[in-house]
Amino acid sequence: MIYKSLDEILRAWIDKRQSDEKGKHSNDWWWASGLGMCRRKQFLRRLDIPVTEVKEYRISFLGEEGKAGHEWREKAVADMGVLVASEERLIDEVSRYRGRFDLLININNELVLVDIKTQRPEAFYRRAKLPVSQRVQWYQQMQLASYQYFASKKYPDIKESRIYYFDRGGGVREEYAFRFGPKMFKAVVDELKALNDDWANHIWPEIGTTAKWECKYCSWKSICKSVEKENLTINEVKKTYGSKENN
Ligand code: SF4
Repeated sequence: MIYKSLDEILRAWIDKRQSDEKGKHSNDWWWASGLGMCRRKQFLRRLDIPVTEVKEYRISFLGEEGKAGHEWREKAVADMGVLVASEERLIDEVSRYRGRFDLLININNELVLVDIKTQRPEAFYRRAKLPVSQRVQWYQQMQLASYQYFASKKYPDIKESRIYYFDRGGGVREEYAFRFGPKMFKAVVDELKALNDDWANHIWPEIGTTAKWECKYCSWKSICKSVEKENLTINEVKKTYGSKENN
């Protein structure tokens, strides 16, 4: 294969990796990163319905930059002697929950779980300008609380969870600490229960107050429109849009 540019090589590598990964991992889970977000979208992903909106390379490139950023931070905290665990997979078979936290570190002799969010400069500043109570969105708090809830089964001494935002444009950082209590953990358990109940009954979940940006970047936008317009059931969506193996 002859490539004309570095960018073409990198794009080809991303395509190749995506095709190598296809079918390797089961989608039959609720992902931590989806909790608190549109439930219909979570259903479409778990149903393994192929995406209808093409993902721009720009998004894949940013994802790779994010991953590379995690590596040096992990090495830094390990070098400083405070790393307890990193990139650890959390699985709960009963609730079909799956997640992976970024870092578990020691701060001031306390066990602290950290989720790192790399943001575009516009997103970082839009968020940072909000009142303090709104700077960490609900779904991000749910994701973080779910990590602490399930990680606590192995690490019962986790005292705090933090979100560490990084502006990839200007290098600015912000860190928010949460001391989650039973109310937040109950919200995680209730969310999983609501998803599982609808799933078991084969009914579409309530969409709820899905933010406009979520629909804008949704990979199943056109299928979702058909569900609305034609009142499609889950089985009809599987039959019409699902991959052959799943029908
Ligand atoms: S388009 Fe919006 S409402 Fe429909 S599945 Fe996607 S995020 Fe949910």
